[in-house]
Amino acid sequence: MTTVSLDDYRAVAPKGTVEFLRCLAQRARGRTFLHVNSTRHGGGVAEILHRLLPIMTELGVDARWEVIKGDAAFYGVTKAFHNALQGQDQAITKEMLDVYAATNTANARDLSLEGDLVLIHDPQPAPLIEHRPGKGKWVWRCHIDLSNPQREAWRLLRKYVARYDAAVFSLPRFAKRLYIPQFLVYPSIDPLSEKNRDLCEGELNGTLERLGIPRDKPILLQVSRFDRFKDPIGVIDAYRLVKRHKDCRLILAGGGADDDPEGAAVLAEVREAAGTDPDIHILELPFSAHLEINALQRAATIVLQKSLREGFGLTVAEALWKGKPVVGGAAGGITVQVIYDVTGYTVNSVEGAAFRIRYLLNNPDLIAKMGEAGREYVRQEFLITRHLADYLTMLIVLTK
Ligand code: UDP
Repeated sequence: MTTVSLDDYRAVAPKGTVEFLRCLAQRARGRTFLHVNSTRHGGGVAEILHRLLPIMTELGVDARWEVIKGDAAFYGVTKAFHNALQGQDQAITKEMLDVYAATNTANARDLSLEGDLVLIHDPQPAPLIEHRPGKGKWVWRCHIDLSNPQREAWRLLRKYVARYDAAVFSLPRFAKRLYIPQFLVYPSIDPLSEKNRDLCEGELNGTLERLGIPRDKPILLQVSRFDRFKDPIGVIDAYRLVKRHKDCRLILAGGGADDDPEGAAVLAEVREAAGTDPDIHILELPFSAHLEINALQRAATIVLQKSLREGFGLTVAEALWKGKPVVGGAAGGITVQVIYDVTGYTVNSVEGAAFRIRYLLNNPDLIAKMGEAGREYVRQEFLITRHLADYLTMLIVLTK
């Protein structure tokens, strides 16, 4: 892939965006902006950081990215913690908390945590705050759905979060009672990345052929890690209800993330639920399969993201950008991306999802109209250029 530079975004971002970013960058030049998360591959956070850092660097910011390391026990603990914070019943024991804190202490020794602004992404590295160097502002960036956490889990995490200089959430609804400033920043997609760039017919057809996906009937697609919060079984159930009336294919495409130990078990459940239906395609993709996901999203008739909890749901913005209506769970960030009856439908049940999928399949003109609206909405709100402006502003304001 050719390297992308800021000027290339003139063709896709709203008018004036590149000039605005250059003005902001003049005030942020030379400052160090360190990001810390828990995986370099898999999931939305890594996806964004891979794209954001090179442009920040081009703009003269000293942008760095560190990844904490842990063993299976640590990721078991942080996944349990993640589930509890998103509202699932989950016991968090003292031993688990010890593993959580000790792994972060070990990482604090190994990583270079200096920066004018240090953005700590998600709960996994949150305890690093105990080891902050004397200089620099520390901000906790939350990407998960904190609308309804297990109280005890939030109480435990809050002890760390309260020590930061500020917190950033993806939705106003996720903000918490804290005595530090809280910011709202929507995540974003990169329209020029391999995952989102335009594809020519040849690339599209070739990729689908390699994946073994015929285009003989409408395609329903969900792209996501095999995670229960993404409700892949609910997707299969909805497809089965639709299939009684309308012939279609279902593709569930996903892979794991380095920091998600539950993927294999969920994938096995999904395979079992799919049975021998030749029109259900379960595609296990490596994290590098950007072109494949791009092609699948473009080939889809309707994209589903039937999550029960969702921090933001980048897959929704990715689909809208490709002109696809989205039928998504009424959860977290899906609710700001899916404007009901305009860019898609939010649903609260398997039956609701099936109803809206059938409704759209029976109204192809509406599919096209919603697709157009979705792309424009993403252009205004959810492109990486807007995200960059938000982060540069934070850097300027917090590190004067
Ligand atoms: N993704 C991917 N391969 C997969 C599953 C997901 O590349 O097998 C990408 C997907 O296209 C999106 C991101 O990972 O860019 C997932 O972000 P999202 O916010 O939807 O969910 P998260 O995994 O962060 O909960």
